[in-house]
Amino acid sequence: MSNKSKYRLETECVQAGYSPGNGEARVLPIYQSTTYKYDSADDVADLFDLKAAGHMYSRISNPTVEALEQKIAILEGGVGAIATSSGQAAITLAVLTICGAGENFIAMSNLYGGTINLFSSTLPKFNIEPRFVNYGRSEAARATNAEEIASLVDSNTKFIYAETIGNPGVEVLDIEWLADIAHSHGLPLIVDNTFATPYLCKPFEYGADVVVHSSTKYLDGHATSVGGLIVDKGNLNLWTNGKFSCLTDPDPSYHELSYTEAFGNAAFITKARVVYVRDFGVLMSPMNAWLTNLGMETLSVRMDRHSENALEVAKFLESHDCVEWVAYPGLDASLDKSLAGKYLKKGAGGVISFGVKGGLAAGKKFIDALELISLVVHVADVRSHVLHPASMTHRQLSEAQQLAAGIKPEQVRLSVGIENVQDIIEDLDRALRRN
Ligand SMILES: *Cc1c(COP(=O)(O)O)cnc(C)c1O
Repeated sequence: MSNKSKYRLETECVQAGYSPGNGEARVLPIYQSTTYKYDSADDVADLFDLKAAGHMYSRISNPTVEALEQKIAILEGGVGAIATSSGQAAITLAVLTICGAGENFIAMSNLYGGTINLFSSTLPKFNIEPRFVNYGRSEAARATNAEEIASLVDSNTKFIYAETIGNPGVEVLDIEWLADIAHSHGLPLIVDNTFATPYLCKPFEYGADVVVHSSTKYLDGHATSVGGLIVDKGNLNLWTNGKFSCLTDPDPSYHELSYTEAFGNAAFITKARVVYVRDFGVLMSPMNAWLTNLGMETLSVRMDRHSENALEVAKFLESHDCVEWVAYPGLDASLDKSLAGKYLKKGAGGVISFGVKGGLAAGKKFIDALELISLVVHVADVRSHVLHPASMTHRQLSEAQQLAAGIKPEQVRLSVGIENVQDIIEDLDRALRRN
């Protein structure tokens, strides 16, 4: 099946990835099978040698999972994708595919707490070194960032990493700016597009080379399935610029095959699957792929509603006496208003960060007083909910790391759902006034 988009995004959300033949099930079937039957030993040998495409074992690929992979590849505009058991698995695989012991990478510091843990405490145990840069919120700060990055890059630097919309600070990434910097150093830009989804922003259109997702969030959208996705733009010129011997040089684990020679612009995503998914066993399960695909069918309508509701809620919070500050890229007063105008034309998504007047204690009291909006360790599904990053998702970080990640002690992360917005606002108002 081709990964080229034939229709508009809303249509591809519903239809892409699966097209039944005559008399076959209209809805994507769940292939709950670990194994696939073949006619001859030669057929299977060709699969193992990567000479033929096909499924051999569901640790490496599966038809239901493949349909989801094709859908996200089409939505993001990439040459291929892999669905993984979690967002963390997707990020880990993306890193390991091009970066190994003795090598390093540059990351903006305003990332999801789990990603910061992976980068700053786990990857160094494998001798992979992250080099963090505090993402600037003004043109002047970004000019300093560019100099900082130039001073951090060396011959062992393998990529630059950032989030389209930071979790939980909701900073908007200037993707084009960072992609230009990455490419000027011969490096790929890897973007975590979880909060934007391809419905609000397609990072490849602005120069990103690899996109990762926690599909656990808006893509599933209903909080049923933990999952992740990696999408490859297929930038062969970049992979063959002399810095990525891991993709160009012969691989002894596949009879001295070169990924760029054998798979052309799909070199990155093929190596990620046939080496790292094979060895670490982190493919998404068929059931989770099916649920995630079902969620994605309604992505466009949900993202419109999330964005619409969140903008109204952000405006309400902005004018509330009990609220100290509000961060939402869709607000006129947002530091990121102009970036949101460029990268998030259809809306800024459903996530808002804000501070309750009275600091940490008032924030906790507010959270406990909510009725409709629940306290859960999750974000970006149909139900409205809140979380306190400093004591929850970013708890493992030091205070300095929290500040670098843009986390304030009083900060509340509000994930605005698709309920009636008046009900959401009334619940917030009542809980805020109780303080
Ligand atoms: C949740 C999240 C992750 C991690 O994904 P899991 O599916 O929980 O493993 C990574 N990045 C961002 C931006 C997230 O919100």
